[in-house]
Amino acid sequence: MGHDYDIIIIGAGPGGIFSAYELCQNAPGLKIAVFEAGHALKQRKCPIDGDKIKSCIGCKTCSIMSGFGGAGAFSDGKYNITNDFGGSLHKYIGKQRALALMHYVDTINLKFGGEGTKLYSTAGSQFKKQCIQYDLHLLDASVRHLGTDINYQVLGNLNRFLEDKVEFHFDSPVDAVSVTEGGYTITSGQKSYTCDKCIISVGRSGSNWMEHICKDLGIATNSNRVDIGVRVELPAEVFSHITDELYESKILYCTQKYGDMVRTFCMNPRGAVVTENTNGIITVNGHSYEDPEKHTENTNFALLVAKHFSEPFKDSNGYGESIARLSNMLGGGVIVQRFGDLIRGRRSTPARIEEAFVTPTLKATPGDLSLVLPKRILDGIIEMIYALDKIAPGTANDDTLLYGVEVKFYNMEVDVDRNLESCHKGLYIIGDGSGITHSLSHASASGVYVAGKILEGMGLPHP
Ligand SMILES: Cc1cc2nc3c(=O)[nH]c(=O)nc-3n(C[C@H](O)[C@H](O)[C@H](O)COP(=O)(O)OP(=O)(O)OC[C@H]3O[C@@H](n4cnc5c(N)ncnc54)[C@H](O)[C@@H]3O)c2cc1C
Repeated sequence: MGHDYDIIIIGAGPGGIFSAYELCQNAPGLKIAVFEAGHALKQRKCPIDGDKIKSCIGCKTCSIMSGFGGAGAFSDGKYNITNDFGGSLHKYIGKQRALALMHYVDTINLKFGGEGTKLYSTAGSQFKKQCIQYDLHLLDASVRHLGTDINYQVLGNLNRFLEDKVEFHFDSPVDAVSVTEGGYTITSGQKSYTCDKCIISVGRSGSNWMEHICKDLGIATNSNRVDIGVRVELPAEVFSHITDELYESKILYCTQKYGDMVRTFCMNPRGAVVTENTNGIITVNGHSYEDPEKHTENTNFALLVAKHFSEPFKDSNGYGESIARLSNMLGGGVIVQRFGDLIRGRRSTPARIEEAFVTPTLKATPGDLSLVLPKRILDGIIEMIYALDKIAPGTANDDTLLYGVEVKFYNMEVDVDRNLESCHKGLYIIGDGSGITHSLSHASASGVYVAGKILEGMGLPHP
């Protein structure tokens, strides 16, 4: 008996969108459905307006994390083209193929509205030498910065391209996936749908669901990492010699005190610090616009310390959530502290923040991060701030703002083969939900890759 669809894609984030794009571009006859827990792009709106609604009210589906475009829809749209960070896709498909796919994704983004945006690169940068003199290590990458505004336009154009080729089911979380003869049945609410092949791309917000599905279907998983830290905000001039040339710089530092790895993450020149809601826990993030009119006076970036756990502890994300919960308990959300207050062992007060030379771009509660972050993590962050001060003098100024906490959760890594196919033939797991990718470019590339593998398996041509 025929199935309802040739292919069902679960999740309309970059992974899901790019697999849908590649499939219908190369095989227009295929019947494809995309099931998405969140809203259609136009309906995605966070109710926080800073006026009537100042903090998260816990919507049924979070418009920041879910819906067409996935977690990246309102992001800064930084597509890092590199194997050095953003995921371990290259371990599955090879370094050259992974890079080629990321470049391919870039051409699609340009075709759908990103033309004219800047591509930055570390290649030939003098800054690498300057870093190494202070034991700071700059990772190689090219970065396409779409900016929050253009990123949204690209998504809108992709949505228009796909809407008459793919059947979209929005506000339709998939509850269960079961293996049937010759395919899969997915259940969403009261209805069930069948397909030959299924691509699961549920991202970070689908991590708990993914864990259940893996248990149900006997797919092995592995998880042991969480990154914890703060978001640093300072006058844009302090980092402008770096951000003007590279836009985003990923710098690694190994602390002298404990030998822990601290890194810069998600740099937003002239951007804004924002809150993020993961499973009801408020953490901090940042973004910036391409449009100069929306620029702020400040640059922000995260400083994160990677925490790897060994047996018997398995719940690395639970550990990160507990720390974030502590900051929510003390600050009612995100806490902000001046670096000068932190090293003097005193809390920041509204008056101290008010008098400071740096004006915060996020309304957070002045407080004391040393009551939230474990000493070892905080020591690492302080040590790196002093190291960064050598290449960007002013980083360790008293008025530098630290927002806490920033947590980078990692999905457990799902056991898939070189085709990103699970132990069940025709069931593919991609994007951040697979634990293999942690970024827009890697997640998108994994979508294109799996679409190619499916077309190949069907004997259909693809580039
Ligand atoms: C504020 C913010 C800024 C960011 N900025 C950047 C950046 O500049 N550069 C970068 O590289 N990365 C950035 N990221 C990370 C990036 O957004 C993700 O790595 C990327 O979106 C992952 O793509 P994905 O398709 O794997 O998953 P997602 O984008 O998370 O999409 C998964 C989708 O699946 C849906 N879903 C989940 N469970 C189900 C279910 N059971 N049924 C149906 N649908 C389901 C979700 O609603 C979601 O829409 C940012 C993230 C955030 C939150």
